[in-house]
Amino acid sequence: MEKGRAAVFVGPRHFEMTELPPVPVGPGGIRVRILAGGICGSDLHFWRGEIEPILTGKQGPVILGHEMAGVIDTLAPDISTDSMGRPLKEGDRVVFTYFFPCRRCYNCLRGELNHCPTRFRFRASIEEFPYCNGGFAEYYYLFPGHFVFKVPDELSNEAAAAVNCAAAQVVYGLRQANLQLGDHVVIQGAGGLGINAAAAAKEMGAASVISIDGVPSRLELARQCGADQTIDINEYDTSEARIERVKELTEGRGADVVMEVVGYPQVVPEGIAMTRKGGAFVEIGNIWPGSNVTLDVSKVLWGQVRIIPVTHYDPYILPVTVDMLTRTRDKYPLTRVMSHTFPLERIGEAFEAAEWAGKTEDSAVTRAMVAP
Ligand SMILES: [Zn+2]
Ligand SMILES: [Zn+2]
Repeated sequence: MEKGRAAVFVGPRHFEMTELPPVPVGPGGIRVRILAGGICGSDLHFWRGEIEPILTGKQGPVILGHEMAGVIDTLAPDISTDSMGRPLKEGDRVVFTYFFPCRRCYNCLRGELNHCPTRFRFRASIEEFPYCNGGFAEYYYLFPGHFVFKVPDELSNEAAAAVNCAAAQVVYGLRQANLQLGDHVVIQGAGGLGINAAAAAKEMGAASVISIDGVPSRLELARQCGADQTIDINEYDTSEARIERVKELTEGRGADVVMEVVGYPQVVPEGIAMTRKGGAFVEIGNIWPGSNVTLDVSKVLWGQVRIIPVTHYDPYILPVTVDMLTRTRDKYPLTRVMSHTFPLERIGEAFEAAEWAGKTEDSAVTRAMVAP
């Protein structure tokens, strides 16, 4: 059995390459060889030192990365299908939930697998079995009962890697918001999640999709990926001007659904003000503690705004998302979201590229990807 290379996160802005022990595959288990791992905005928070990466278990070096796709390296003899009952064999490309619902707790019992309190078995110490539990490594281990789905040949590795979490997260958020045919949708932010959200909202029947960002190349990509209108925050440079613009574009009402994928709390009151009376505000981006903001709750009450917090997703969202990306692969250039690919050994450069994505004039990077 081979050892697996891994880029271990040892502290802010610091990775070390190492080799991890081979993972034995027990009954019901699957060892996946990672094909590609995208750098999510949340990974950047860990990298900058803004949040501690260890969520459960022993403290120590971890492997970051949760946006990944892989190929089945070793399948336990008792596994012959994916979670949809389709034949599965070694060598098949797959996507899988990166979190691990225990199915032995109150939330799991209620079908709230994305709220399972112990689902964070990924990103644990590299000293604990199964050692390789992050996306920036050669292997990843799926525990028995894990949700895994075969990827059709037509879908590229770049597209498959973006299923977790960029695409799946926003597809789930739009479903939770109950997006309907003919709705107006505002997407705050045109990074990896925001651009996928534009395409997903359009595919789900939105009459118009309005993307907001401050980087022209991202807004251009959003337009190519489903946005009907864009609002450049450099042009509409106050909150009032942007709210006014959204009202103009939505027959004076505001949007039926507003989705926040910026990751800064300041944009939340603005997004709520852009939501029509009785509409939904989907909160995804503000994942770290201390995301404080002053909010006039009476505006939520009298505006009857449904605030919908979304973390992770239901596992069925993965095949739904894979299907959408496969069907629309010639319609939207979503693979351009994964604009730069680096080998695993150059992960530091990949994070620098992701950090500066869209912030420098010559940078068209939206999301950087690492391929072992
Ligand atoms: Zn559970
Ligand atoms: Zn993510």
